[in-house]
Amino acid sequence: MSLITAGSSGAQDVTKYVRYEAGGAVAYGILDGDTINELDGNFFSSPKPTGKTVALSDVKLLAPTEPSKVIGIGLNYKSHSGTEERAPYPGIFAKFPTCIVAHEDPIVRPEGADDLHYEGEMVVIIGKETKNVSVEDAPGYIFGVTCGNDVSERSWQSNDLQWFRGKLSDTFGPMGPVLVTGLDYTDLLLETRVNGKTVQSQRTTDLLFSVAECVSYISQFVTLLPGDVIFSGTPGTTAAMADGDVIEIEIEGVGILRNTLK
Ligand code: MG
Repeated sequence: MSLITAGSSGAQDVTKYVRYEAGGAVAYGILDGDTINELDGNFFSSPKPTGKTVALSDVKLLAPTEPSKVIGIGLNYKSHSGTEERAPYPGIFAKFPTCIVAHEDPIVRPEGADDLHYEGEMVVIIGKETKNVSVEDAPGYIFGVTCGNDVSERSWQSNDLQWFRGKLSDTFGPMGPVLVTGLDYTDLLLETRVNGKTVQSQRTTDLLFSVAECVSYISQFVTLLPGDVIFSGTPGTTAAMADGDVIEIEIEGVGILRNTLK
């Protein structure tokens, strides 16, 4: 079984989208097993199949979208926040689009980053322009989900004035490998492995603020655009990574995101 297609969802209308580079060109496609069916446009423009196929093994997978905004939700699992209580509102923060890297790309340790943690997360991809949307309507603005690693430098996060270099340094946002639609993302198993050992394992049912609540809340302040991404929060306890560690984030029915810390 391929790493990309591992897991099952049980749903009937699940589609796995990939953005990739082949022959020097960037393309979009739908993954069917280990074959990619090329599309004539990006995921948000009702693309049609071109009829051209390419083997998954012959392409370089890219992060599924090029977001204008990357937004994180802090302390969104009680197993991570240490409290049973919800905060009055979601704790949102920003990452830069330049922190996004793809499946199999390295995570690069910045100079002096001695406390660099993984954070396995479900990442939500926005499908259309979203402003002042209600919680009830928010799911209609969500295109799908993928796996993410909200890489965080804990001492910088604690000691700096803002969550800037600690959260949005280059390569601090691995995301992918596939963008999946049609899943019930309110109830998926999220797991993180370091060198094959499971270090985080929780279902998305345990999110303190639901994905819909987060999208609604964020849209009160900023206009979300197609391709924008929201890292929905990490469960449990995280730990510092060592150089050479292989970090895998797996979401049931979505796939496995794998990156190595250089
Ligand atoms: Mg996080």
